Formats: sequence, C-alpha cells, structure tokens
Amino acid sequence: MKIDVRRFFEIEGEREDFSFELDLSQTEIWSHKPLISPVKIEGYVQSRSSIVTLAYKAFAPMHTFCDRCLCDYDSSIDLDFEYTLVKELQDSDAQEYILIEGDFLDLGELCSSDVVLNLPLKFLCREDCKGLCPVCGTNLNLSDCDCLNSQTDPRLAALKKLLEN
Ligand SMILES: [Zn+2]
Ligand SMILES: [Zn+2]
Repeated sequence: MKIDVRRFFEIEGEREDFSFELDLSQTEIWSHKPLISPVKIEGYVQSRSSIVTLAYKAFAPMHTFCDRCLCDYDSSIDLDFEYTLVKELQDSDAQEYILIEGDFLDLGELCSSDVVLNLPLKFLCREDCKGLCPVCGTNLNLSDCDCLNSQTDPRLAALKKLLEN
C-alpha cells in the first residue's frame, strides 16, 4: 500500500483518508504469533498550514499464550500514531518525523513496523498472573500447592525467596 505524498506538499488543504488490512499472522515476536486476524489500519494524510500530517489507528484482536502460566488467552491491540512528513529533516532527534525522499510513502511497511514494535514485551493473560509452580507445574491462578511451603530443600527455599521479591 503506497501513497503518493507529493501533492500534500504542493496543495494546501489536501487530504486523503485510507484504510486497509495488514496480514501479520506470520509475524513472530518472542516466539508468539499473536496477530492471527488481520490488523485494521485507518488514517489520513493531510496538509494544513504547510504541515503535512500522517495519523492512523491500528487495531486487531490478539490470541496467544501467557508467558507465565502458558494458558491461551484473547486480547487486542488499539494503537494510535501521528507523524509529520518532511522533505528534509529539521531535527534529527525527533522520531515523529518521517523523511520523504521520493514521491511515495510505503504505508504497509511503516504500519507493519509500527505495530510490531509496539507489541507487548511480555504476553500475560493478566497483569498479576501467578504462573506455574516450578516444582509440580500447578497453575497457581487456579489452585494452590504446598510445594514452596513444605519443601526444606535449600535450593527451593532460595527460589521461594526469589519469587517473593
Ligand atoms: Zn497467565
Ligand atoms: Zn507445586
């Protein structure tokens, strides 16, 4: 999905809305492939007061497994992005600028990398997921076990201490 951006620099008040779907179902991140359904992209490019703005939303359901307890769970992403398109870089530190070198901007490429870079660093079924007992494998969200309380193995005591911190 490429968009011809040249006219936004030439015509004041020019605007184009866009929407498309991205297939990132094969994109793997931290051994997850969470984006089983297409990611919906909706946004616009607009020139106003000599500033060319690109803004869009990316949303999609996610389905993957929890890094701590390994259960399957559903979640979603809902991301907003906004950039200023420039023909020459005004401030090399500013990440919200996109330098346009030709006449076209590849939206598919931009949106794919934005979405992937904004996926969670950890996939958790819930914030406070208790995970699995390292001794017996019990899902500690569903039931308790006595492993870490009853064992006197010093290595487990150390582990218990670690988990409590
Ligand atoms: Zn979990
Ligand atoms: Zn246990």
